[in-house]
Amino acid sequence: MISGMEVVFLLLVLLGQCCYAAYNTNASVVAGKLNVHLVAHSHDDVGWIKTADEYYDTVKGILDSVLASLQENPDRKFVEVEQAFFSRWWNEQNSSIQGVVRRLVKSGQLEFANGGWCMHDEAATHYADMIDQTTLGHRFLKQEFDVVPRIGWQIDPFGHSAVQAYLLGTELGFDGLFFARIDYQDRLRRTQDKNLEFVWEGSNTLKSDNQLFTSVFLRHYKPPKGFNYEGSGGIIMQSFSYVQDDPSKGATNIEERVEAFVNAAKVYANATQTNHVMWTMGDDFKYYRSAEWYTEMDKLIHYVNKDGRVNALYSTPSIYLDAKHAADQVWNVTKNDFFPYADNKDSFWTGYYTSRTVLKGYVRALSGYLQAARQLEALTGKRDHPNTDNLWRALSVVQHHDGVSGTERQKVADDYARLLAIAASEAEKSMNLAASCLAAGVSPSDCLRKNVSSDAVQCPHLDISFCPSSENITSDKPLVVTAYNPLGWAREEYIQIPVSSNALIVTDATGKAVDSQLAPISDATKKLRKLHAELDIGVIPEDETLYSLVFKAVVPPLGFSSYLVKPSKPNENGKWFGSAGNSRVYEANITDSSTEYFWYTGQVGGQNSGAYIFRPADNNPTPVTSSAWLAVEGPLYKARRRQVSPWIYEEHRLYNGETHNELEITVGPIPLDDGVGKEVIVKVKANTTSNSKFYTDSNGRDFLERVRSKQVTQPVAGNYYPVNLGIYINDNQTDLSLLVDRASGASSTNDGEVELMLHRRLMADDERGVSEALDEQVRRMVYVNSGPVKEASRWRRLKGQRIYSPLQLFFSTPSGQNVPKQFSMVKSGYALPDNVALLTIQELEDKSILVRLAHLFEAGEDDTLSKPANVQLKQLFWHWEIQGVNELSLSTNQDKSSMKRRMEWKVAEKSEGGAKRGARIDQKSLLVELGPMEIRTLQLTVKPKNVVTLI
Ligand SMILES: [Zn+2]
Repeated sequence: MISGMEVVFLLLVLLGQCCYAAYNTNASVVAGKLNVHLVAHSHDDVGWIKTADEYYDTVKGILDSVLASLQENPDRKFVEVEQAFFSRWWNEQNSSIQGVVRRLVKSGQLEFANGGWCMHDEAATHYADMIDQTTLGHRFLKQEFDVVPRIGWQIDPFGHSAVQAYLLGTELGFDGLFFARIDYQDRLRRTQDKNLEFVWEGSNTLKSDNQLFTSVFLRHYKPPKGFNYEGSGGIIMQSFSYVQDDPSKGATNIEERVEAFVNAAKVYANATQTNHVMWTMGDDFKYYRSAEWYTEMDKLIHYVNKDGRVNALYSTPSIYLDAKHAADQVWNVTKNDFFPYADNKDSFWTGYYTSRTVLKGYVRALSGYLQAARQLEALTGKRDHPNTDNLWRALSVVQHHDGVSGTERQKVADDYARLLAIAASEAEKSMNLAASCLAAGVSPSDCLRKNVSSDAVQCPHLDISFCPSSENITSDKPLVVTAYNPLGWAREEYIQIPVSSNALIVTDATGKAVDSQLAPISDATKKLRKLHAELDIGVIPEDETLYSLVFKAVVPPLGFSSYLVKPSKPNENGKWFGSAGNSRVYEANITDSSTEYFWYTGQVGGQNSGAYIFRPADNNPTPVTSSAWLAVEGPLYKARRRQVSPWIYEEHRLYNGETHNELEITVGPIPLDDGVGKEVIVKVKANTTSNSKFYTDSNGRDFLERVRSKQVTQPVAGNYYPVNLGIYINDNQTDLSLLVDRASGASSTNDGEVELMLHRRLMADDERGVSEALDEQVRRMVYVNSGPVKEASRWRRLKGQRIYSPLQLFFSTPSGQNVPKQFSMVKSGYALPDNVALLTIQELEDKSILVRLAHLFEAGEDDTLSKPANVQLKQLFWHWEIQGVNELSLSTNQDKSSMKRRMEWKVAEKSEGGAKRGARIDQKSLLVELGPMEIRTLQLTVKPKNVVTLI
């Protein structure tokens, strides 16, 4: 029995089917005609004004709606991008819907572009994180659909990096890259010259061996004017022009809409080469009512093709790319990168390089932490819980271009931090278990099987000198400090922990005393500790006298060393200065300073300075006056500290045996009571004639030459660049390098000096969507080295790795007087070559081990270290019997050997070929060769040797 309602419904369905069928939408590419590729897409930010979880409700609706529309007409297509959303939706579907989706993917109706967990930012991201978040998405797509994405779809990030083009482009196996935002003047020139599409050569090392076809959209990622649907006012309120082809409803407008379509197509055709143009049919969070888009596109394709002047078709980026390739056109070559990005003469998007510097610092610290946690997890066996997978996911989400970029609302930044903290605490548990097993000499298989209890803990708040474990050392309760070294090189490094006693002694595992320095902590540290312990941990630390204990740890590669800290007699540990421990603290008469602090006034009025945009009201920054220095001298380091202003403190530290200065800078809370937003910078000078040139890194990897331009409309903001590793200047003799602990904006506004933006607190919003002024406070580290230019690169690269992968400290109480001995995964006497870093050691689902090795030097960067390097896997992973090695693509979704050949593009200027890459890996010798800047991704089948050697 069919009810009345059901009859109506059935009729509607039948009518619907009859009407869709009435439109002929099955057009494909037509040779000799202008082809308009209609690419249906939705840009779904993984957090921005709302949190990713809040947005998911909308995205769920979008995917449900698109699924229905695609099933209604097999010609319709859709591009899906962010796997953080898609995988979640996928996991909520029943098997019959999953079957439908699989068919849509197979038929090409549903195409995945980018395929990473999010659409990552390109300025404030580290390449290790970009690889990780892409790998997470690519592995999901490979496992569920056997799909390997071939299109880079970075349509919203605010500038584009060289590393994106070559590393996260061709090295992933992508055939093309699409994006929207480039400098407004560059866009104008390229539009006039029909040069919005080109071949991008992003690597100065791999050169023409690594080129990527790149397409910049003519009109952001929206459709042409008049072809945008589903506006925010709802369907009834919109003024968009729909095709009205039903005479019973009044006058029709078919001719008018076809005319508008053909005219718009001609505008696009005038801006690009070949007879193919792409219209991005979508916008932010569109396709919730996907029928609106598809019904209109059905009609447009039908009537435009009936008209016949141009050919309209449902398309995808890969169909479009193949058509471009088949056209056999000669393309211009573009080198370097697309920073900075300005959308008009006053609006340089160079503020976000520094915005939300606290979040940026947290993300960078957890990035190195995840790599270390994965190593220990792989070594001792990965558990179902706790493990590091949630930290992988949380870090992948925050790489989003409104995540680590700092361009999200405060509550969204807080939500990212909350998810990171929960995931980090799970990874911490996994690490503590692994460390306890290793320290107790429990073999990996036993570590998994046995219910090992962990007595080792970490102190995640060492950055604010808060660590309950180290602050209560007594003779009954001495402290074991275990330092794990995630690098493939042996390491001698100074460890600093807060303690409450001014008389302590440190011994190594053999009982031998180790030099240490005890000094009172600074007032700035006390203030910071009190404030953040209360705010972040909810603990009010006692206002006790506190010292910092510093000693040098000597740690083998991929291994640990332990030290015992116990009370001593006052003069047992070097010269005794009473309440100052074994350090002399005095007011120093220092007049010169290598560091100077300033702030730019954030513009309010016209284009404001805000989360995205840096616009100083005056290009001459206001200097910050400073107070006298306090000097600290002891057996291991010399320091000087001062209060630069009531809200800026600095400490310079020079350790014995090191050439560089460590700068600990505390900024905040930046006062706004004078009604002035402040963008705080530090300037560092050196005796070098840098000749308008300076160098900044691309996502922590390659260094790019920058030439200061006086022509630019904003002479300061327009000469700012993002740094993730550092910035340097030099002449033939002398180099000045600054390395950073997090993403920042930097420049060299005068010869012989570099400036780094430390923090921003502003009065106004810059009207790019976030609608809030920035309001945070921070402590951060800067590493400064000045010396001969020939040695500079070595320092930058090696120190850079130490900053990214710090020693991980574990604290425990000794059982009896036993201190765990040294342990190393690496065969005694072996270490990675200086020019190779271990990027990844990770246990995969099938228990195989994923390893990424990265050559750290560019071609020609260093006389010796730019040469090819060899790694002996058997020596490096001494604790595994390696049964086989398979080389994979960077995101692990393809076998390297079966990767299809890269698409070759004809280019106008032939440039030279790149540096030689490493040879194929011999399965017997297991020797891995790496050419300059090469990253090799390996999957190792291993059998644990079941022995943990304590050396
Ligand atoms: Zn976006």
